[in-house]
Amino acid sequence: MEHPENDSQYSGLAVNSGVAQPPQVNPYLKARRRKPLPTPGELVEGILKGDRTVLSRAVTLVESTNPDHQVVAQEVIEKCLPHSGHSRRIGITGVPGAGKSTSIDVFGMHVLKQGGKLAVLAIDPSSERTKGSILGDKTRMEQLSVQPDSFIRPSPSAGSLGGVARKTRETIVLCEAAGFDNIFVETVGVGQSETAVHSMVDFFLLIQLAGTGDELQGIKRGIMEMADGIVINKADGDNIPRAQLAMAQFRNALHLFPPTASGWTPEVKCYSGYYGLGIDEVWDMIDRYFKFVHENGYFEQRRNEQARYWMFESINEQLRNHFYHDPEVEAMLGRYEARVLDNRLSSFVAAKDILDFYFRKNNFSSNK
Ligand code: GDP
Repeated sequence: MEHPENDSQYSGLAVNSGVAQPPQVNPYLKARRRKPLPTPGELVEGILKGDRTVLSRAVTLVESTNPDHQVVAQEVIEKCLPHSGHSRRIGITGVPGAGKSTSIDVFGMHVLKQGGKLAVLAIDPSSERTKGSILGDKTRMEQLSVQPDSFIRPSPSAGSLGGVARKTRETIVLCEAAGFDNIFVETVGVGQSETAVHSMVDFFLLIQLAGTGDELQGIKRGIMEMADGIVINKADGDNIPRAQLAMAQFRNALHLFPPTASGWTPEVKCYSGYYGLGIDEVWDMIDRYFKFVHENGYFEQRRNEQARYWMFESINEQLRNHFYHDPEVEAMLGRYEARVLDNRLSSFVAAKDILDFYFRKNNFSSNK
């Protein structure tokens, strides 16, 4: 028999007629209209009232790459600017595992107890790759995340460091306009992002651990040089003597660094984020720093320098985008690259040809 399964003794194998499956997408969903985009005026009004939901929506627009969203976002930022600037901006860095989340939770609660309002932002250009597991996960800051006076926002999703950093800087403006008078900007202390954070904060705090060498912690000398304060975490239990030793070593190392532009001598402290020990001392250092730089005028100076830096950064970013996103330029780059790699053309001539083409195309006169 050709198809033994059709024999009556195998009746169990008979195939029943199918049952229609429901559609995978809920048909009623279509009836739900998308919320219309709020107007800049509505957003600004909500932000100035300190409404965190409106603030969150505005930040989403700042982070969006949709040009319509960007138009609204830029108008909101502009209207919020006159209400911004009155906060302490504190950058916090340290390698993964140094205790940033734990520390931000306790430092943040300390700030709130003193009557402040706190926004915690992050810069992590790799966040798409790590799916936000390093930074920005609200559950990492258990106490803070349920406080009405705190606003925790994960890093804008991955992109160029400059792009991610610019969005965070714009978010600072919105948070300040919403009345947050303390801003923490967190970053992982392993790469370039510290420079970006440094360029938008007033005080830069480096969290270190005792018992591992500098190299092991992946902290580059440049990052230590940027720090206004170095704090050694996990100074608890058996770890206390090691933390104290590390404190002495860091103090010695700092002596070898050139004097800071602020005139402030960076300090080194020990604390335990987990057990809440030494938090007052760390915060006292930060209070003294702010008093010091307000008195000697460095506070204003640093903010002005940062404003200038970001103006040039924005110009550079937009020029780069305009150039590299031009389809003809992209095609040319591919062709020229191959010729340069084959030694058929010098890098300089290749660059000049492509730029000349780009300038001509945009009716700029190329500078010779
Ligand atoms: P992050 O990756 O820098 O954000 O570090 P976490 O805050 O997630 O901390 C990493 C680990 O160190 C966690 O298991 C914490 O419980 C632990 N930890 C953080 N602070 C302290 C501390 O002060 N003392 C001790 N003993 N452990 C800590």
